[in-house]
Amino acid sequence: MKQPTLRWGLMGASDIAETRMLPALRRGGHTVHAVLSSSLSHARAYADRNHISLALDDIEAFVSRSDIDAVYISSTNDRHLEQARAAAAAGKHVLCEKPVAITLGEAAAITEACRGAEVALAVNHHLPAAGTHRRIRELVAAGAIGRPLAVNVSHATLLPERLRGWRLGDDPGAGAVMDLSCHDASVVNPLLGTRALQTSAITVRQGPWEARSEDVSMAIVRYENEVLVHLHDSFTSPFTPTFLEVHGDAGSIRAVDVMAPEPDGTVVLTDASGSREIEVPDRRHTYDITLEAFTSATAGAGRPIVTGEDAYNALAISTSILESAQTGHLVAVQFAPLRA
Ligand code: NDP
Repeated sequence: MKQPTLRWGLMGASDIAETRMLPALRRGGHTVHAVLSSSLSHARAYADRNHISLALDDIEAFVSRSDIDAVYISSTNDRHLEQARAAAAAGKHVLCEKPVAITLGEAAAITEACRGAEVALAVNHHLPAAGTHRRIRELVAAGAIGRPLAVNVSHATLLPERLRGWRLGDDPGAGAVMDLSCHDASVVNPLLGTRALQTSAITVRQGPWEARSEDVSMAIVRYENEVLVHLHDSFTSPFTPTFLEVHGDAGSIRAVDVMAPEPDGTVVLTDASGSREIEVPDRRHTYDITLEAFTSATAGAGRPIVTGEDAYNALAISTSILESAQTGHLVAVQFAPLRA
């Protein structure tokens, strides 16, 4: 059956919109009608090279357009709340970049604004959409590894040169923890399906640049049922493979090269009968899957892959890591209530 399509506006003339979301929107048959920037000249240049007809710097003029059904928010993290509120108030569905906001209070306010306006809200944590991650969740839920005991995430890469701007600054949305650890949490939270309880973390600055926020973090998070989760998030490691491991009392899963938007990577299950690669039937791009679920949700069918509440709980892991690293203490994770 042919997927419905939406008419989009971009809130934020960003790299991610240009390099990943615009191609995905166009692959899916969606149309993009306008781009909003705080700088009109930037918006115009961006619109021209990306074949977008309208460039605006006025948020009210943008959200009141009748030719926009949904907005994609990919401005810097501190602006997500203001833009989501304006879009929701104007009746536009909201696909927001991660981290959904820079504080848990802001994250809750985005969910409330969208719920109150009865518009769909999804957050573009793309990893849970991946065929690899969905297969791993199925295996764990089916008992393939027995009782989960530990999870190990390696999300260490080298920050591309073009992205070495605000991420290395000292604004509240900067740093590897806000950028990467919430992605890890968006994978681990639904994988375990339980509450995160406490976090202990150390962050450092080790890159070949003048960073004013952490560029590496190692964190241990304790989830319910005495499950321990280790997260290594880094902007400084050019050759480290990304991976997700899930260890249980009856088996282990090791999935390599799966912490990326491309639908790559392998999933290997080891148990009493030996090791074998698990087939991953769905190799569609994570953005295509995310957009498909979001588009259905705008029509009232199904739920987005990552809801506002899911993104709140992903952010709760990042904020607990930062607090632990700053205080040197074990910190309680401020999870929202889990869905029934
Ligand atoms: P960018 O730095 O490319 O863009 C962020 C903002 O910076 C833009 O919205 C724009 O502001 C301003 N800006 C960028 N370039 C220029 C320029 N040449 N001149 C003037 N202003 C400029 O950020 P990213 O694309 O890296 O990240 C944007 C959001 O997307 C963040 O929330 C980030 O966390 C998220 N993201 C998510 C990823 C994922 O894996 N899901 C991956 C990468 C990013 P204005 O809006 O005012 O034009």
